[in-house]
Amino acid sequence: MRYKRLAQLYEDLSSTTKRLEKIDILSKFLDYLSKEDRDVMYLLLGDIYPEYDERRIGISNQLAIKAIAKATGTDPASVTKEWKQVGDLGQVAEKLTQTKSQSTLHSHIITIEKVLTNLRKLPELEGKGTVSKKIALITELLTSASPIEAKYLTRTLIGDLRIGLKEATVRDSMAKAFFKNKKESAPKIQKAIDRTNDLASVFDIVGKGKIKELEKLHLEVGKPIKAMLAQKVNNLKEGFKAVGSPCAVEYKYDGFRLIIHKQGKNFSLFTRSLENVTKQFPEVVEYLKKYVKGESYILDSEAVGFDSKTKEYQPFQNISQRIRRKYHIEKMQKTLPVEINIFDVLYYDGKSLLNEPFEKRTKLIKKIIKNHPYKIIHAKQIITSNEKRAKEFYDKALKDNQEGVMMKNLKAEYDPGRRVGHMIKIKPEEKDLDLVITGAEYGAGKRSGWMSSFILSCKGKNKGEYLEIGKMGTGINEKQTDGKVTFEQLSKMLTPLIIKEKGKSVTIKPKVVISVTYQEIQKSPNYNSGWALRFPRFTALRPDRHPEDIADLKEVVDDFKKQKRNWRYG
Ligand code: AMP
Repeated sequence: MRYKRLAQLYEDLSSTTKRLEKIDILSKFLDYLSKEDRDVMYLLLGDIYPEYDERRIGISNQLAIKAIAKATGTDPASVTKEWKQVGDLGQVAEKLTQTKSQSTLHSHIITIEKVLTNLRKLPELEGKGTVSKKIALITELLTSASPIEAKYLTRTLIGDLRIGLKEATVRDSMAKAFFKNKKESAPKIQKAIDRTNDLASVFDIVGKGKIKELEKLHLEVGKPIKAMLAQKVNNLKEGFKAVGSPCAVEYKYDGFRLIIHKQGKNFSLFTRSLENVTKQFPEVVEYLKKYVKGESYILDSEAVGFDSKTKEYQPFQNISQRIRRKYHIEKMQKTLPVEINIFDVLYYDGKSLLNEPFEKRTKLIKKIIKNHPYKIIHAKQIITSNEKRAKEFYDKALKDNQEGVMMKNLKAEYDPGRRVGHMIKIKPEEKDLDLVITGAEYGAGKRSGWMSSFILSCKGKNKGEYLEIGKMGTGINEKQTDGKVTFEQLSKMLTPLIIKEKGKSVTIKPKVVISVTYQEIQKSPNYNSGWALRFPRFTALRPDRHPEDIADLKEVVDDFKKQKRNWRYG
């Protein structure tokens, strides 16, 4: 298939914001898509491989600018200038290609196959000369591209297709294209997508109109799958109402999600974003070998950090560095050890357990894992219909320095990737503070050009003194919707207040007061107040407030003293 056909589809899809119209357009396209072109399913959402695959195109704006410049005979400075005006590198490539093709009048045919071949070489390149090799691969495509092809090639490269297409729309379009009963087929298609994270494999089957055969697409050990997510309720009563009674109540551990795969001698550990982190946690593989029975399995768990000497649980922030760390892994194992809390099993000895009730899965966990505190344990759990008992357990979880509790319906199945109503979370209410912005960092990717992370400060003892107390990047919108503040607006507001710039970081005059909510306060050497907010989230601009009116350090520390938790493992 020609790439032009796909570029035209992108264009048609972006011409409407209406979901039903998008489904109409895409289902016609899918009906026409032949099985040889199945990999187009990845390109639809801007990928080159199935979602479970870690290889991404990963081209920076700067590199794309160089390639556009080369392909269109422009200099990079003019491309950048144009980009700053237009704000979309894809449109810049389109415009420059148009100008060029008017003068040269040549056009080549680019096939989907060629696009994928070149794009798939990009993540494989390493070492010396990588940049120029990447530019050559991209330029080869761009020089043959028509204006509209150049636009979408560029947007694909930088990971910003801007066609407003989501997986759910692709799912509904498949249902519409291949089945009479959309309502019945769509959930089955979704389940197959969730089990495989591979749109093209699902297309292979539904393209033939064989909905029943989707059941043949199984979980595969070693291929990451998405974690099931929880909805939130405010209290235990609501919790019982949501998940039924009796139900399982479990500690909500405060670490990071780790999904564990074992097949024979092979172990793989994946994070919630499907990142393979096996190399970073060799000790976990040792625990699995020693303390978990089974030839093959997929387990769902939360890894929690603790201090090796005091056995105090560590806030997630401290162990987060282990996730990305590629060096000094042994040293990190000693200084930042983790405990694995297993709370679900999705596959065991050759069989998928996704459709088995939770009570059966949770029983199996207890059978196959030998508890070793500070190494690997099954998540603490009670099964009860008694609210008082649940409350005692919840209080104990908080006292044990965990975030709260999860409540789970005993009959429910495991729905990968879904935020379900049969598993819910309960955490203490959030608190709020008024603070002032005293610094920021410029973002990357979608947020490039904007400040995307903000240093927050409270008042110090002396007049005009402000002390840093945390960094915040959530609660702010990328696009203008429902009247919420965007990164762009906040950046515009703060730019005239910049006092100092260093690389991507800026120091900002304390003027802009905002309200934030946060979950907790903890001691921290990272900020000059000696304290840090956990999970700060932007809630509102406070133009009505002067920096003199904001919270002072005493208020913050008092709050710490009132906290039930103090990071001791009890
Ligand atoms: P949140 O991140 O606030 O949406 O809460 C859901 C997260 O809590 C899950 O994604 C897990 O990483 C974590 N978690 C901790 N303990 C449990 C548990 N016992 N069952 C399920 N999830 C848990």
